[in-house]
Amino acid sequence: MEEFENKCFYCGKPVTKRSVEVDHFIPWSFIKDDQIWNFVLACPECNNKKRDKLAQVDFLNKISDRNEIMIERDHRNDADSARRIKMIYNWAQRNGYNEIWTPREITV
Ligand SMILES: [Zn+2]
Repeated sequence: MEEFENKCFYCGKPVTKRSVEVDHFIPWSFIKDDQIWNFVLACPECNNKKRDKLAQVDFLNKISDRNEIMIERDHRNDADSARRIKMIYNWAQRNGYNEIWTPREITV
């Protein structure tokens, strides 16, 4: 959806093609996989601060909704991926990813 494409997923700050970074929502150090349902666009500041932490659960719900929209839009037969990210999030928490990150200011 358009609204996700030029704002930082976390803090809502506008991002440009030059400044935008791709963040692995579930840290790459845990999942070691590059999947579209795990990517969000982030400003350099958020991406740099989040590093390999999990974002707070509000963002889990947000990415899950985003993924459902993405699946619908692309007519992809991948109904599991919205649920999958929640499973992996819980799984990461049980495996020591206990530090939950949230951006200090949210401008959404
Ligand atoms: Zn940000």
